[in-house]
Amino acid sequence: MSDSYRGPLPKPTPETAPYWEALRRHELRVQRCDDCGEAFFYPRNVCPACLSDRLTWVPASGRGRLHSFTIVHAGIATPPLPLPYVVAIVELDEGPRLMSNLVGVDPDPEALSCDMPVEIEFADVTDEVTLPRFRPVGEC
Ligand SMILES: [Zn+2]
Repeated sequence: MSDSYRGPLPKPTPETAPYWEALRRHELRVQRCDDCGEAFFYPRNVCPACLSDRLTWVPASGRGRLHSFTIVHAGIATPPLPLPYVVAIVELDEGPRLMSNLVGVDPDPEALSCDMPVEIEFADVTDEVTLPRFRPVGEC
């Protein structure tokens, strides 16, 4: 699925490469601490809860809730999606929050509510890059 994406593309680092490689396979993965069990995002070298460096990449369900959002109407020279679009912070069922876009719903505050259930979809924006996006699930 290639769309008209014109936004920035990730430049994977050693810390983030496993995340981007998993997305390319249409899997969402987050890191989990082997010592305290904390799941977290963004990718990093030590657990933000206990500073352990014993970390494992684990699959995430791809389901969560809309934690916060804003609707972008203008102000970007090359918008990554057709204007207006929704920038969302999603809280995954596993706990971590990540910034993404919300699609499949009108970019209208009347159609959006914090805590609405969402699930991931995988947007193959180039042959090498897949971005996570989320869409509402259930009654919306
Ligand atoms: Zn920990």
